[in-house]
Amino acid sequence: MTEDLNPHHVARRQFDLATPFVGDLDGWRGMAEWLFQPEKIVSVTLPVEMDDGYVHTFLGYRVVHNTVRGPGKGGIRFHPSVDEDEVKALATWMTWKCALVDIPFGGAKGGVNCDATALSENEKRRIARRFIAALGDNIGPHTDIPAPDMYTDAQTMVWIYDTYHMMHPGENSLPVVTGKPLDLGGIPGRSTATARGVFFAAEHFIEIGAMPGISSLDGARVAIQGYGNAGRHAARIFRDAGATIVAVSDSRGGVHDPNGLDLTRVAAHKDEAGTVVGALGDGKLTPGEILEVECEILIPAAMENQITADNAGRVQAQLIVEAANGPTTPTADEILAERDIKVLPDILANAGGVVVSYFEWIQNLQNEQWEEHQVDELLAKKMRRATEAVVTERVALCEGLDEYRTRWQERVPDAPTLPAPTFRTAATAVAVGRTKATAEARGVWP
Ligand code: GLU
Repeated sequence: MTEDLNPHHVARRQFDLATPFVGDLDGWRGMAEWLFQPEKIVSVTLPVEMDDGYVHTFLGYRVVHNTVRGPGKGGIRFHPSVDEDEVKALATWMTWKCALVDIPFGGAKGGVNCDATALSENEKRRIARRFIAALGDNIGPHTDIPAPDMYTDAQTMVWIYDTYHMMHPGENSLPVVTGKPLDLGGIPGRSTATARGVFFAAEHFIEIGAMPGISSLDGARVAIQGYGNAGRHAARIFRDAGATIVAVSDSRGGVHDPNGLDLTRVAAHKDEAGTVVGALGDGKLTPGEILEVECEILIPAAMENQITADNAGRVQAQLIVEAANGPTTPTADEILAERDIKVLPDILANAGGVVVSYFEWIQNLQNEQWEEHQVDELLAKKMRRATEAVVTERVALCEGLDEYRTRWQERVPDAPTLPAPTFRTAATAVAVGRTKATAEARGVWP
């Protein structure tokens, strides 16, 4: 049987695994559908003149998943995999992520289907500007706030800000987008925030004893799939904490050295050659092999559907810390759980980016400039608190499992036995539970 890799179906499966653990099921009264379905889907057609004069028609999407807890928040990606279902799934995960780290945003996401590696800087600029013009007032500082994601960066955020501001002169438009450069309303530490967050979550998870077998990051062997904003910074941050980075990769392949990679050499090679492949004489990995490297901690930092039914049985790590969104499929989750490999889920592990986006948004609303140490301290606090919430929730759900199973059986007699909750299920239950509670407090309008 081939696995269903549609990201929106994956999100649905994760939601369905978590909802039986959220509060009193009879109290849902149909609310589950409301909390799962996206609130708004905008799709736009973007004619863009390429450098050679050819007019290419790109497709762009912005999805607001849920605004019960606050305005939509989430990145914009430029990638060939972008379609409506991918953006819907990513927006859903943003709702859960913001609720889990307890920041006052809902979830949103956007993307343009394009191959950013084949575009010139000017072509990217025209795509970004045309996309934001086409979205019009579907984004706004109090309605839906974009940020960087795959193949978009601080420069892309400047174009987004500038285009929006052209359409709203005389207003403070800085809070319409986060991840901006420092000299245009950006906040210190935003570019490293996702990786710092991954680090704080993993460190604290180990510190509170949730990871038997690993007592410290010091000396732990770490493999990282993806050398973009999250993966590249994570390599350095984990190395600085004493971990041995045994392998890193990008979309073209990877490099592997069981004694630890020379990260300065790898980074220099990436900047020069556009890939980490070839940074060492030997020790080359194919893109898939990175996930099967011998290590204690595996950090998928690339994209969705990397750890699947096909390769989950060959993962050698004891702990997977998801820096990417949606890297592990539900079937892989089952296989990993059977093998007692723990997974710190994306909505917890990679939330550092949106947490610091939240600080940037506050900074922009108040016309302030924060200090890097303030950002880092508050980020650490948010990540640690969320990690504790997930670990505590999982303990509570496991303790009450028999009762949850009986209740679920009474409600859905033909349903298969409720699986024991993973950290993903616990995290999703916390997030959905918080959103449900706010939705109930606000009530259904009118
Ligand atoms: N794109 C990032 C994510 O997936 C950051 C989103 C944001 O800062 O709004 O979490």
